[in-house]
Amino acid sequence: MTPDHREDRFLISCIALTLLLFVVDVVLPRSVAWGALYSIVILMSLRLNNPRLTLLLTGMCVLLMVPSYFAAPDSYSPTWAAIANRLMAMGLLLLTALLGLSLLEANHRILSTQRKLEEANRELEHRAASDGLTGVANRRHFDERLAQELQRAQREGEPVSLLLVDVDHFKRYNDTLGHLAGDECLVQIAQILQANVRRSTDVVSRYGGEEFAVILPNTDPTGAWERAEAIRLAVREAQIPCGLPEEGCVTVSVGCGTVWPSLDSALPKTVIDLADQALYRAKRSGRDRVELEPQAHPAPGPLNCSVCLTHPD
Ligand code: GH3
Ligand code: MG
Ligand code: MG
Repeated sequence: MTPDHREDRFLISCIALTLLLFVVDVVLPRSVAWGALYSIVILMSLRLNNPRLTLLLTGMCVLLMVPSYFAAPDSYSPTWAAIANRLMAMGLLLLTALLGLSLLEANHRILSTQRKLEEANRELEHRAASDGLTGVANRRHFDERLAQELQRAQREGEPVSLLLVDVDHFKRYNDTLGHLAGDECLVQIAQILQANVRRSTDVVSRYGGEEFAVILPNTDPTGAWERAEAIRLAVREAQIPCGLPEEGCVTVSVGCGTVWPSLDSALPKTVIDLADQALYRAKRSGRDRVELEPQAHPAPGPLNCSVCLTHPD
């Protein structure tokens, strides 16, 4: 049943109850204002969350108490007491409506403040997890996610790869073009990294200075190699000028590490060290290249990393 249908049914129930109470008020002696029970209808109508409708029902109930006074059989109590009784019941109905409506409004205010707080919280969480310059995840978020992914991989027996991406000769870039241009270059590299990861679970982060880290859950060395090469080529294709014609464009070196946490402890240090060693090799062998360092253990099951230990160059 859609919410609209539910509201219609609820409204019909309110009106049916009003009519039933009217009949009771008409049939029983007028010394007791049975119409006071209309307050049940008013309280019920608050659930419709529609103040206009509640006011309309209140008006209807109060008005119905007038004809029922004349239609109801005589009672032994003096007339003035029956009238006073009825007037008090009418006042009570109005009071119930006013109190209910102010409760409804307070509830709305609480809900809207709650929504604003939740939004502000989300924004704060996002800011606390992202790098101020590049907008990708910051080091703190990287540390948390890497630990989580390794634990998950340990439970599920999957590999986790890590790419360490370092901008080549970045000190020289800063010295030639200035620190602000250097910042701009880092922003561009971060965007290229983000554009070159495929899964929503991959995490691009700024590891520190001009070094980025990419966590690739459930990725074997072949997949890590592919992503790393795609990133390296994308940075070259972006043709970010270095400032000196003879230097060409900005390039990056990438170190890939892969671990199977089920074979080893799920320590982040293990995979970071592997990626770091690979990055060191990439720098030593001339920069603008990808190097791979899978875990020393043989891969379990269908994973076989021997194919990707061969450098494509
Ligand atoms: P290599 O190819 O061996 O990596 O050489 P490199 O010059 O890139 O490495 P090095 O570690 O000598 O220099 C890193 C430079 O990155 C030095 C530092 O000023 C610069 N750097 C670090 N963080 C930032 C930043 O946020 N903005 C800018 N503009 N530069 C930064
Ligand atoms: Mg560098
Ligand atoms: Mg560096």
